Amino acid sequence: MPHDFLQPLVGSFAMPAAENPTVAMIEAAFRYHGLNWRYINCEVAPQDLGDAVRGARAMGWRGFNCSIPHKVAVIEYLEGLGRSAEIIGAVNTVVRHEDGRLIGENTDGKGFLRALSEVTEPSGQRAVLFGAGGAARAVAVEMALAGVSQITVVNRSPARGEAVVRLIDDRTPASAEYRPWEGSFRVPQGTRLVVNATSVGLYPDVDATPDIDHDSLTPDMVVADGIHNPPLTKLLRAAQARGCKTADGLGMLVGQGVIGLKHWTGIDADAEVMRRALLDLGL
Ligand code: NDP
Repeated sequence: MPHDFLQPLVGSFAMPAAENPTVAMIEAAFRYHGLNWRYINCEVAPQDLGDAVRGARAMGWRGFNCSIPHKVAVIEYLEGLGRSAEIIGAVNTVVRHEDGRLIGENTDGKGFLRALSEVTEPSGQRAVLFGAGGAARAVAVEMALAGVSQITVVNRSPARGEAVVRLIDDRTPASAEYRPWEGSFRVPQGTRLVVNATSVGLYPDVDATPDIDHDSLTPDMVVADGIHNPPLTKLLRAAQARGCKTADGLGMLVGQGVIGLKHWTGIDADAEVMRRALLDLGL
């Protein structure tokens, strides 16, 4: 029987890397779909990123994920960017095209939209987005490109909040406004999407929750949280208790995995298998 011992390679470059669960989710999909591929989780220091990308090229890697601190720095080593990665100014997924070019994509916000689409169609809706860091920027751009009409950005630091507003107003069809985060924020009536893209509530600070007036949440709102660990955050529990539909950060992470696998392998991976692999880790 013929053997093929040359497995196509993809992986991740980040620092720190030990707590990144992506490898478990992607390799579960490889096994489930019978793909003889490997995903290698690598810890790469900032000063070594160029060598890591050159190494991936030399070894014929099909692509790789980039996480903190490489999402912006990696751009100078690539031959091009997908549309939203160019607008966001950050890359978390690199895809080797058939001609050998490495093209940077951003799936943070696309993964979020994929999870959101299981509970609502965001087109034409008004959103309130908490946070203005890398994840919020990606989520804001993808929501805007998906037809969300208006985004209110609420962030602790005004400078970052206003930068996201400018990005949305200048580079997308949606309009945006900044609101300072002073005390408990009341979500205005008429809002249909409420998104936490801050890091508040992330393990181990699971009792922390973004300062949002839960009594302003109404059943016609969808509440989404980017926090994947734990998946059921305090915010999502409060939203469910008030009759809102919810989308969790685990769905966002799985969504990114599904989109990355499509780019690299062409398959439509089974999201449930990937979610189960993450839940089996105790997330
Ligand atoms: P950043 O450090 O770039 O941004 C953090 C954001 O959280 C900023 O808006 C910051 O506000 C805000 N923030 C932090 N602490 C507080 C606080 N105590 N009160 C109010 N606001 C606060 O991080 P990222 O954008 O990269 O990531 C944010 C979260 O999203 C992380 O928890 C990460 O795990 C999650 N994420 C999830 C993904 C998924 O697939 N589920 C993918 C990517 C990220 P300020 O600007 O004022 O500092």
